[in-house]
Amino acid sequence: MFSSAQETKVSEDPTATFTGWAAVPNGNGILQKWSYHPRPLFEDEVEIEISHCGICGSDIHFTSEGWGPITRPAIPGHEIVGHVVARGEKAIHQIGDRVGVGCIVAACRDKLCDQCEKGEDQFCDQKSITFNAPYKDGRGGISEGGFADRIRVYSDYAFKIPKEILSAEAASFFCAGITTYTPLKRYKAGPNSRVGVIGIGGLGHLALQWARAMGCKEVVAISGRDNKKEEAFKLGATKFINTSDRQQLTDAAKSLDLCLCTNASKNNNWEDYLSLMGPLSHLVLLALPEEPITFKGTPMVAQDIAIVGSHLGNKADTVEMLEFAAKHNIRPWVEKRPFEDCNEACKDVHAGKPRYRIVLEMDAAQKNPHA
Ligand SMILES: [Zn+2]
Ligand SMILES: [Zn+2]
Repeated sequence: MFSSAQETKVSEDPTATFTGWAAVPNGNGILQKWSYHPRPLFEDEVEIEISHCGICGSDIHFTSEGWGPITRPAIPGHEIVGHVVARGEKAIHQIGDRVGVGCIVAACRDKLCDQCEKGEDQFCDQKSITFNAPYKDGRGGISEGGFADRIRVYSDYAFKIPKEILSAEAASFFCAGITTYTPLKRYKAGPNSRVGVIGIGGLGHLALQWARAMGCKEVVAISGRDNKKEEAFKLGATKFINTSDRQQLTDAAKSLDLCLCTNASKNNNWEDYLSLMGPLSHLVLLALPEEPITFKGTPMVAQDIAIVGSHLGNKADTVEMLEFAAKHNIRPWVEKRPFEDCNEACKDVHAGKPRYRIVLEMDAAQKNPHA
C-alpha cells in the first residue's frame, strides 16, 4: 500500500523518548512509569505534547487485563488533548494547534478500504487503536496511549478543538463524547423520539446532554439508584427511572424509541431494559461487559426491538460533534487530577466515583522538554 516506508519518513531521532504510565503483565492494574522510543514521525503525522488525558472505563478493563492478558508494558489513555509540537510536511495541522485524539490513531491511507471509502473509518481493518496496537500500515511500531507526555498520530486523527472548549473539558469528547453522539445521530434522535440512557456516568452524562440538545421529546435517565437523580435532571433528563423499583419499570413499559446502555456492569438486567423498549425501537449497547449477555427473546420479537452495538464514531462525526458541543454549550463534568495520581484516579473510576469523568492534567514541570 505504501510505496516505501523510507520515503515517507521525515524525522527519525532514535534518541526520542516518550514517557508515560504503563500497565505491565500481571501488574494488577497498577500503572508504572515507563519510557519508550516512538516510531519515526512520518510526513502525514503530528507529534503532540499532551496536556490532558481522560480516563475511560476501557482503560480500566485494559490495564486490569479484564479483556485479556497484556504482553508488554503498555500505556493506556485515549481521550487525549495537547498541542502540536512537530509535524510532517503533509500534516494538516500547524505547530501550536490545539488538538484532541480519540481511540484511533491510524487507518488506511493511499488506497481506501470499503469502510474508509464510506467514511466509516472506525470499522477499517487497517486501523490502529490508540494503545498497544501494532500498526498495520507497513511503517512498523506499536501504538502507545495518552497517559504520557507525548504521542505521534496520523494528523487526520488529531482533531482541532473549538476555542470555546477548555482543554480539560475537551478530552472526554474523544471517547465518551463520540461514543454517545454517534448512535444518537445514527438512530435519528430528535423531536419525535423518546430516548433513554442507562447508566449516568462518564458516557451517560454526555448522552443526556446530547439528547436534550437534539430536542428529543423525552430524555429518560435510567439507573439502579436514586443518587444521581437530581444531577440527571440538570444534565437534561426530563424523566428518571430507578430500575430497582418494579413499579417504575412497569409504569414505563414500552416507553422508549431509542435507548443507549452505557453500563458494563454484570448486574445489568437485560429483560428489564427490554421491557422499556417500544415497538420498532433500538437498544444500543455502548459499554463492553466482560461477561456474556443473556435474556429471553420474547419482547424483542413481540415489539420488533433491535438490539445493536455501537463502536466509537467516524472522523466526520467527530468534527461535527465538537462543533455541536461548542454551539450548544455541552461540556463533560470533569474532575482534574495530576498525571502522577493516575493509579488513584483509575481506582476511583473502577469504583464508579467520578462525577462524571476524571481527566489527568500534566503539570508543566513534569513535561519532558527534550522528548
Ligand atoms: Zn474509551
Ligand atoms: Zn480503511
